[in-house]
Amino acid sequence: MTTKEKRKVSILDELLEQRGVKRRDFLKLCAGVAATLGLSQAAIPRIAEALEGSVIGPNTSGALAPTIWLELASCTGCTESLAQVDTPDIATIVLELISLNYAETLSAGAGWSLELAKEQTIEVGGYILVIEGALMEGWDGDALRIADERATDIVEHAASHADVIVCVGSCAVDGGWQAAHPNPGGAIGIQRYLTKAKAEGRLDYDLPPIVNVPCCPSNPEHVVAVLVDWLLLNRAPELTADNKPALMFGQYLHDNCPRRGHFENGEFVRQFGSKEEAKAYCLYTVGCKGPETKANCPIVRWNRRSGWCVEAGAPCIGCATADPRRAGFDWVTMNTPFLKHLRNVGFGGLTFSPAIIAWGAAGLVVAALVIHGFGMKASGRTKGGAPYELERKWDKDHPDKALCTSEAAKKCAEAQGLDCSDADANADADADADADADACAIDTNEEGGGK
Ligand code: SF4
Ligand code: SF4
Repeated sequence: MTTKEKRKVSILDELLEQRGVKRRDFLKLCAGVAATLGLSQAAIPRIAEALEGSVIGPNTSGALAPTIWLELASCTGCTESLAQVDTPDIATIVLELISLNYAETLSAGAGWSLELAKEQTIEVGGYILVIEGALMEGWDGDALRIADERATDIVEHAASHADVIVCVGSCAVDGGWQAAHPNPGGAIGIQRYLTKAKAEGRLDYDLPPIVNVPCCPSNPEHVVAVLVDWLLLNRAPELTADNKPALMFGQYLHDNCPRRGHFENGEFVRQFGSKEEAKAYCLYTVGCKGPETKANCPIVRWNRRSGWCVEAGAPCIGCATADPRRAGFDWVTMNTPFLKHLRNVGFGGLTFSPAIIAWGAAGLVVAALVIHGFGMKASGRTKGGAPYELERKWDKDHPDKALCTSEAAKKCAEAQGLDCSDADANADADADADADADACAIDTNEEGGGK
């Protein structure tokens, strides 16, 4: 054993002794942490070493970024989710970039010694405060107590000397499941709670930047990206108006959905188990909230980038939606029932009431397509795209005829046995001749025709 290794063992032993923990039990705990993080047993010495190097003392700062991870009203799904990340892997984050001084789920220690570590970290200041789970204001804050303290007091205190607050998962962002109507425990997102407390004069410090990382659970790639941004570049990422990282939550996921072409063509799944589902048609009619949800799930994907909700055949249930600044705008209240559109649906700045939606799924789809088309054009999202609405209307009215606006299109129609006699019937529908020819080539070459 080298002198350096001896010194490490010595420091570790001292640490264990201070905490009243036997070395064997400590290593067992490290093994548990390794398992939770998805690491091999070979990582146990590194975990022990990282804990040894953590910022525990009141006057030490250490090389690692001190981090406090508060677990409020939650299922710990976001912690579980983060433990699965591999780019960069959790070992890099936990062992090399941050010093997880306090985390109820992951910490090796527990009880008063862990609470002491948190208190000392707050005293030193300059830490990352990660919050998972909703805060509960109900019963004067007694709806959620941790270590015999009200969670509202814990959050107010922990925020006082933080450099940045990262709200991980939709529960911390907007109250999540717990905030769903009727919300008896008074669940609330961190941003709204702290902003309110500040406005009511209950906080004597300026709030640090708050970064909201929604989704249920949070996507580990999102959390890691925010942490890496802060740790390596010492800045919060560019944020949307509701404090979500703009690169991750600034664009409708519908815009990047591989089923988007089916949406545009009016090809929908109306029933699970149907042949339309087998063809991977658009899931809008079975409740997909993609057109109302801003998140880059189709790009970042989930489970080590192996897929995401729609790709797996499930409608997006909008777990990244909701406004953390407004009461009652939690993602669950906004989006349930998940497999139906019974609430107000917004497209391009227009909103439809349940009464309109109750006209029926077919009517809804037509309305949605038309209105969404207008909305997209108004917002410039289809700028430069072909004006297909006229062609579709004409096709619908003339099922046995073809729009033959060019020689190529005429040949294409003839090859499909369609009548070109109304070739000039709709002079406004100036379909592109080359596009017609391309479509024809696809249609006539594929068995059973194209779309
Ligand atoms: S409604 Fe859903 S399934 Fe359909 S295109 Fe949009 S995101 Fe994809
Ligand atoms: S696709 Fe929708 S439901 Fe699925 S994770 Fe993304 S925002 Fe949440």
